[in-house]
Amino acid sequence: MASNYEIERLAEMIIEAQRVVIFTGAGVSTESGIPDFRSPGGLWDRYDVEEFYFQRFMSSEKSRILYWEMQSELYGLLQKVEPNPSHYACVALHDFGKLDCVITQNIDNLHQVAGLSSDKVIELHGNAIEVKCMSCGKYWAREVIQKRVDQGDKAPICDECEGYLKPATISFGQSMPVDAMEQAEYHSRNCDLLVAMGSSLVVQPAATMPLLAKAGGAKLAIVNLENTPYDGEADLVVLGKTGEVMSQVAALVKGSLEAA
Ligand code: NAD
Repeated sequence: MASNYEIERLAEMIIEAQRVVIFTGAGVSTESGIPDFRSPGGLWDRYDVEEFYFQRFMSSEKSRILYWEMQSELYGLLQKVEPNPSHYACVALHDFGKLDCVITQNIDNLHQVAGLSSDKVIELHGNAIEVKCMSCGKYWAREVIQKRVDQGDKAPICDECEGYLKPATISFGQSMPVDAMEQAEYHSRNCDLLVAMGSSLVVQPAATMPLLAKAGGAKLAIVNLENTPYDGEADLVVLGKTGEVMSQVAALVKGSLEAA
């Protein structure tokens, strides 16, 4: 459990900083009810990750059907969940004028639902509320395509070009979105504090952002339930639930700014 000292120290680091980048992973959404990558009973515990490599999606109808089946289950869950105190703490830091941006590995849209404008959220692994044609690149609203899937179109294709339609999220083996990566690298290099929250920091290349921040001279704080490979690089490591930790941190920052 996080100590008062760690929570106060993180609040101080945020107060001292001018451009805070928050880097988030699946752990910030577990308190909303979305299992992370490794939780027992989570989606990935029941499906074989190997089945969902991008190359398989592109080369096999059977894999596309299975992919849409798994994605439909995930989408059903995403429609029921709500942001939690971790997401609202990011909004609070924005309202205090501290937040440069959120860089997220999550595809659940919860930072935006909590109230951050989409130009403040850099999504490294896409967003499940859209669908993209793998041939012509056209984007479609997820709800429109999901309706087709729910009505029996098990692996939908594009009305314009007959390309394969895929939720606009990044699968294993799929290229990272160039714009989002460039922006994320820029903001990581130019922030003065990066707070990595709820990420195992093992999924590359996303997990290089904390190191880019350090290389650019920023401080690094890591808030996670378990240790990460970059704890040795961090100025502060807080072991705890991001919602619990960050709501206390945001309250301390607010109190300090109001008193100043
Ligand atoms: P990860 O599953 O590898 O790591 C999550 C980390 O968060 C773990 O170390 C876990 O101990 C920690 N954690 C869980 N609940 C926590 C909490 N309440 N407070 C603090 N820490 C907590 O996740 P990752 O690093 O984001 O990488 C997994 C990949 O899976 C990413 O590519 C991501 O796109 C994707 N993913 C996204 C979602 C989502 O959008 N919500 C959910 C599952 C997986």
